[in-house]
This record gives sequence, C-alpha cells and structure tokens, in this order.
Amino acid sequence: MAQGAVEYAKELGCANPQIVLHLDHGDSFELCKDCIDNGFSSVMIDGSALPYEDNIALTKKVVEYAHAHDVTVEAELGVLAGVEDEVQAEESHYTKPEEVIDFATRTGCDSLAISIGTSHGAYKFKPEQCTRDPKTGKLVPPPLAFDVLHAIEEKLPGFPIVLHGSSSVPQDEVDTINAHGGKLPDAVGIPEEQLREASKSAVCKINIDSDSRLAMTAAIRKYFDEHPEHFDPRQYLKPARENMQKMYEHKIVDVLGSNNKL
Ligand SMILES: [Zn+2]
Repeated sequence: MAQGAVEYAKELGCANPQIVLHLDHGDSFELCKDCIDNGFSSVMIDGSALPYEDNIALTKKVVEYAHAHDVTVEAELGVLAGVEDEVQAEESHYTKPEEVIDFATRTGCDSLAISIGTSHGAYKFKPEQCTRDPKTGKLVPPPLAFDVLHAIEEKLPGFPIVLHGSSSVPQDEVDTINAHGGKLPDAVGIPEEQLREASKSAVCKINIDSDSRLAMTAAIRKYFDEHPEHFDPRQYLKPARENMQKMYEHKIVDVLGSNNKL
C-alpha cells in the first residue's frame, strides 16, 4: 500500500517521494500483523497500559513479525493522560529512565514513545495544573519533563524517541471557534517553544493531531458564519483544507525544523 502511494506520487510528478504508511496505537498483535500483511511500512504497538513484562512480551512478538517483513516498530513505555480515539488514561506516568535500556534491548523496537508530560486531546491540562496569564486570562501549562527526556537520551544515545499528544492548541484557532458558536473554554496544549527544544534532542517524531482538527473546525465555523446560505462541502472544505495545510507547513518549518530532511 505504501509502495502504491509512492508509485502514485511519482505519476503525479514527484521525483523521489518519501512516503510512510504507519499504524498509530496498534493495540494487538493481530492488528499489527494485519497492517504489515497489507503493506504498511511501520507500525506502533502500544502496550503502555499493560504491566511491564506483558508490554515487553507483546512488543517483542510484533517486532519479530515486523522485522521479518522489513517493517519498523514503534513501542511505548510510560502512560500519557488524555483521550485520543480509543486511547485514554486518567493520569500520566512518566517513563522511567532506568527501564528504557532493558525495554529497548529485550523488545528490539526501532523507536520508543515516551511520557514526559504531553497528553492526547485539546484539553491536556486541568486548570488546577496550570497558572493563568494575568494579561490574557489564558492558561499556562506546566513545562515538559526535560530532565526525564535527557536521562533517557543518556541511557540510549542516538535511539529514536517519539512524543505523542503534542498539539499546541493554537489559541487563535480556539478563539475563532469560540467566536463563531463553538465552546472550547480553557483548551490548552504544549507550547511550541518546548516542542522546538524537544525536536533538537533524540526526539525524531512528534505527533500532532488535535491542532489540525482545531484548524479545520475553526475554518468551517467561520465559513458557515459568513456564508449561512452555503451547504456544499466542496465550498466549506476548501478553506478548511487550506487552514490545515498552513498549520502543518508552520509546524514543519518553524516548530519541528524537519523541512527538507530525511
Ligand atoms: Zn498517540
């Protein structure tokens, strides 16, 4: 399937497309196997909610199958708070640096998602976890646990680290949504400066999803407010797509620094 996307991109005139088809938060060996059998180029097996030894056993099983099919595996150690699709947990538990060598060695995983204070969704922190900016009245979230990240880097020099739940919940998009009939009080994310700092470390992949949902919803709400007579998705999805594209271009260039890099 990934190969098909590459061929199609070539047909469209892209000379050397680099395309990955990745399963996010696979929760069973069967699901990962299904994806591998159907041409995914990488899978994530998320055993982070399991007891440590069970997480290792499940991840190892996926790695053995995946590597035999030339597919890479992202694993997860430590628990993120928040809700994303089927993934949810009340509280986060930071990854324990003293476990990462044992985990990476015994599972053979290719990259490791860790928990250092990011979380899924548009409400990453409760107001009582934050301070409030006296000027804007907006919540200021607690900083990421860079000490944990650096301790992990020291244990596994050069090993690819992944951050999930890393949307910044842009307040201009939240304000647009709220100004056009939405209701997202106190939605707050990870400040982009902290992601910029993390992306200079062993962190090689930062997952950002809620921000695109916000960008799309903000554009659609604004459009409907300004064009109440319109009902054709081809009309209102155009500014929605454009707003998402603008957001992702900004992330790639200004936040992740990953433009023109392989
Ligand atoms: Zn995730």
